[in-house]
Amino acid sequence: MTDFVPPLEAIRSQMNHVAKTHGIFELEGFAEINDDLTEAILDEAGKFAQKVLAPINVLGDREGAVCKDGDVTVPAEFIDAYRQFVDNGWPSLGGNPEFGGQGVPELVVNAVYEMFTAANLAFTLCPKLTQGGIYSILYHGTDELKQRYLEPLIEGRYTASMDLTEPSAGSDLGRVTTMAVPEGDHYRITGRKIYITWGDHNMAENVIHLVLARTPDAAPGSRGLSMFLVPKYLLNEDGSPGERNDMLPLSIEHKMGIHCSPTCVMSYGEEDGAIGYLVGTEGAGLASMFTMMNQMRLGVGLQGVGVAERAYQDSVYYARDRIQGSIPGKGDVAIIEHGDVRRMLLTMRAMTVASRAVVLETAAALDQQAHGDDDEKRSHYRIYADLLTPIAKGWCTEIAQEAASLSVQVYGGMGYVEESGVAQHMRDARILPIYEGTNGIQALDLVGRKLLKQGDACMRAVISDVRKLAADLPADLSTEAKRLQAGADSLETTTDWLVEHHQDDPNTVSSVAYNYMMQSGTVIGGWLTLRHALAATEAGEKHARANLMTAKFYLEQLMPRAQSYAAGVTSGGASIIDFPEAMF
Ligand SMILES: Cc1cc2nc3c(=O)[nH]c(=O)nc-3n(C[C@H](O)[C@H](O)[C@H](O)COP(=O)(O)OP(=O)(O)OC[C@H]3O[C@@H](n4cnc5c(N)ncnc54)[C@H](O)[C@@H]3O)c2cc1C
Repeated sequence: MTDFVPPLEAIRSQMNHVAKTHGIFELEGFAEINDDLTEAILDEAGKFAQKVLAPINVLGDREGAVCKDGDVTVPAEFIDAYRQFVDNGWPSLGGNPEFGGQGVPELVVNAVYEMFTAANLAFTLCPKLTQGGIYSILYHGTDELKQRYLEPLIEGRYTASMDLTEPSAGSDLGRVTTMAVPEGDHYRITGRKIYITWGDHNMAENVIHLVLARTPDAAPGSRGLSMFLVPKYLLNEDGSPGERNDMLPLSIEHKMGIHCSPTCVMSYGEEDGAIGYLVGTEGAGLASMFTMMNQMRLGVGLQGVGVAERAYQDSVYYARDRIQGSIPGKGDVAIIEHGDVRRMLLTMRAMTVASRAVVLETAAALDQQAHGDDDEKRSHYRIYADLLTPIAKGWCTEIAQEAASLSVQVYGGMGYVEESGVAQHMRDARILPIYEGTNGIQALDLVGRKLLKQGDACMRAVISDVRKLAADLPADLSTEAKRLQAGADSLETTTDWLVEHHQDDPNTVSSVAYNYMMQSGTVIGGWLTLRHALAATEAGEKHARANLMTAKFYLEQLMPRAQSYAAGVTSGGASIIDFPEAMF
């Protein structure tokens, strides 16, 4: 594997373009943010990713975490990296200034975390989950919970985990059985959760679990769920961690990738029941948890971008170095000279740029949703962020699979050998379409909730923006204009179809939603890639030509996929629905 080189110029250029498009740095809440500051933040983050996180990525994969006698430990190198992470102030980057945070926009935080993720996905999951936990407590917690827990979480002294899944409650959280019985000012939690990422470890002073559980008289299904803050160590009066709560990790999973991210089976209440505190109101647990889940869904999309970038970098390096085959007039050549290898590299490159654009656009929408000037603007951007989030999670993580797999292909036989390092990218990336709501569930969210329930106006506005960019392109980009227009047309066709036919059969939406999600990502990713390339050209940026050529490649080679996804939608999925179960 090659050394990780932070893609600073690419990230900075794309981030600044999105910031300018949506006026992020002009927002009142971000008065102290300026170009010099964001540049310094990105530079430092790049150095940290390159010098501290990337060098321990393979070690983490080989050594992994260990669970013994009710405690999880990670290698000393991870503990040291986390200490440096905290000392350098990274956990507080996006945190609320009222509780010691630096109040940096989500847009910048996401740009920073792309580099951390690309350098070391397993490590970065820990602070990323903590960010989600912070938001849940901030938006739904009582003043007392905020006072006691937010500062140490924002400072990185504590970390957070998200405890939803149980053996019989995966995608269907309405089946959660963990119980929470009221007792004075707290609840007693009993039950078992599985697959809890960074559910226990020895990098921080305390682990704060945000647990979905059911109160005794709660309604059945998801309406009966509440969210509880369950600390590993209960806090003393003075706020310091004290007695251990009645909970422990029973084991960790031996899994395909992200070996140094402990995936814990957690048990609550082996004795009297773990002490937990209600976050939000009883019965509104899923809504409270969604604050964390939406953060994490975007975060997982971002992980897709990070993995794709890393896989691309390694592939370019190898393709330049590996001599194989010859080309008339050139003699023996490095494989980067072969058309098929160039196709793979450009596919990875264009997909990485497009998926980064989708994630940054979503992050900017979240910033406007939280800090926009007036109610109308905040509401507009909330709907936009809602629409983009399942696309960012679903499409960007599918992109990561393709990029990681192409990377193995570029390496040939060496790609299949662990020593090359690209096999780790592929193993690590495979979880991305599964956790935080599988991509099937993201597709259902996009079509069922965001398009059909919230209304199709936002998607129609996006389609209109895509069309406008196509119409405004100069004459020398008329071919690109037609290709972009074709993408917009196909997305409009499927949107119309879904609005009209979604009730044709109870399984219609489920059968076609994935194709709609992939089509939306393909069209929106291409639009944003071109929008950025044009802005970079106009500003005379150093890499403007490469940006424009990447966008042209995307429109020529990847945008046509929108048509085939569209065919999958407008077919109505008849062949899927009609296939008798007994014939499988
Ligand atoms: C490494 C790892 C880390 C994880 N970290 C966490 C964590 O920190 N916290 C946490 O709470 N959980 C965590 N999870 C759990 C993860 O979120 C779940 O695995 C995921 O939500 C899917 O649930 P499931 O595994 O039960 O699959 P199932 O729900 O059984 O799904 C199996 C398949 O059926 C499909 N499916 C299910 N229901 C429907 C439906 N209604 N319509 C269409 N298709 C459907 C799914 O898309 C999937 O393809 C983690 C899992 C792993 C492997």
